[in-house]
Amino acid sequence: MFDVLVIGGGISGGSTAIYTSQGELKTAVIDSGKSQIKQVSRLFNYPGIKEITGTELLENIKDQALAAGTEWNEGTVETVKQNDNGFSVILTEGKEFVSKHLVIATNLQTSLLESLGFELTVNEKVPSGKIKKVLGIDPDGTTKLPNLYITSLLAGLSSQSVIAAGHGASIGISIVSKETGKAYMWHDK
Ligand SMILES: Cc1cc2nc3c(=O)[nH]c(=O)nc-3n(C[C@H](O)[C@H](O)[C@H](O)COP(=O)(O)OP(=O)(O)OC[C@H]3O[C@@H](n4cnc5c(N)ncnc54)[C@H](O)[C@@H]3O)c2cc1C
Repeated sequence: MFDVLVIGGGISGGSTAIYTSQGELKTAVIDSGKSQIKQVSRLFNYPGIKEITGTELLENIKDQALAAGTEWNEGTVETVKQNDNGFSVILTEGKEFVSKHLVIATNLQTSLLESLGFELTVNEKVPSGKIKKVLGIDPDGTTKLPNLYITSLLAGLSSQSVIAAGHGASIGISIVSKETGKAYMWHDK
């Protein structure tokens, strides 16, 4: 049983895992390896980093999550179910993960949310008009289901890596704060 399970190990999900692991919550990521940032050969707008490839940024985030204690799993989640203790997640090959908190960080992939009964609408922050967000979601990523959080584009934010990272971090901090009963902050000396 995990404290936190993150579906999607892209920019936002990886960022959540860094924070929840650093906050000493037992955290696992399941990632199918299709982050949009891999399409970006050179990224110039991530504050504090003058230039980086999308793949390198992604690998750095994964390395930081691993260093903080995250268990990182390659795979695709097919089914999510809510039960008395939290959430049960089943991968395509049949492996099951159980967790108290669930973070859905799947970006363009909406099928898991639909299966959980969430309604979707157009994310008006993306010009194409084709990208979806969850209807009525709070900006902090919390949902109608207790202990279930949704990141980034699906929460109605803009398609920018720094926003995805910040939102993932914010959700991680909220979960650690909720679990420990006091506001969590990570301040290095
Ligand atoms: C062509 C292009 C250019 C871009 N250029 C820039 C740019 O210059 N600057 C910038 O800031 N941003 C840019 N972006 C946006 C940036 O890529 C996104 O903001 C960022 O990747 C969003 O992070 P995320 O974690 O929400 O999603 P992602 O990084 O896409 O991660 C989602 C992850 O979820 C996984 N996943 C999905 N479904 C499942 C499942 N069922 N089970 C397990 N894993 C699953 C996917 O495999 C993926 O790894 C660009 C995007 C595109 C498409």
